[in-house]
Amino acid sequence: MVSLRDVRKEYAGGVVAVDGISLSVDEGELVAVVGPSGSGKSTVLHLVGTLDRPTSGTVEIAGHDVARLTDRRLSALRASRIGFVFQQFHLAAGVPALDAVADGLLYAGVRRSARLERAEEALTTVGLAHRLRHRPHELSGGERQRVAIARAVVGEPALLLADEPTGNLDSASGAAVLDLLRGLNAAGTTIIVITHDREIAARLPRRVEIRDGRIAEAAHAA
Ligand code: ADP
Repeated sequence: MVSLRDVRKEYAGGVVAVDGISLSVDEGELVAVVGPSGSGKSTVLHLVGTLDRPTSGTVEIAGHDVARLTDRRLSALRASRIGFVFQQFHLAAGVPALDAVADGLLYAGVRRSARLERAEEALTTVGLAHRLRHRPHELSGGERQRVAIARAVVGEPALLLADEPTGNLDSASGAAVLDLLRGLNAAGTTIIVITHDREIAARLPRRVEIRDGRIAEAAHAA
């Protein structure tokens, strides 16, 4: 699903955020990319999410070499295959959960009525069937993140990328979000979670450790 080969990312000003990473993630995996702040995790996620291109090295997503795609085809690949979840939820103020999730299908060429139907299904999957009309300020942090996850998966992406998805949540809500991600993974979605939190990483089946833009250690659960 994901293949990085000797990937480097140097930002303007000479900061080398990713310094020669090779990493493969197979279809169906649930992987934690773990490391301290500033180690390069978000940069890796941006490269895997095709939001940014590497300075050198190869990034392949679902069999496509990112370097060979035009911006337009890259956007299409991203829209159809990749879902994103962020620490800050990124839900627009005042927009009810059902509409926020339906908007996840805006670029999929799906009619509005079908978008709303699928949004309701996705919200039901994340346990929010009773919160369809609630706006972000009427939801708890854990519920907001579940809305964001529903929005990310409503288009049934093959790959879900989560950047510190539990970072703004209390431990009980964080645990519920992790359980939800595990459930989505069991249903077939390949998931990469980035986190600085070793306890969270320890609860996922595979961990990739990053230090100073390099892979420090890769561990599979026994
Ligand atoms: P993490 O997600 O592990 O905290 P990042 O990937 O955000 O790490 O950052 C890795 C390094 O790259 C840090 O030193 C950071 O300051 C630097 N960096 C990140 N984004 C940019 C950018 N857009 N321009 C310049 N430097 C950046």
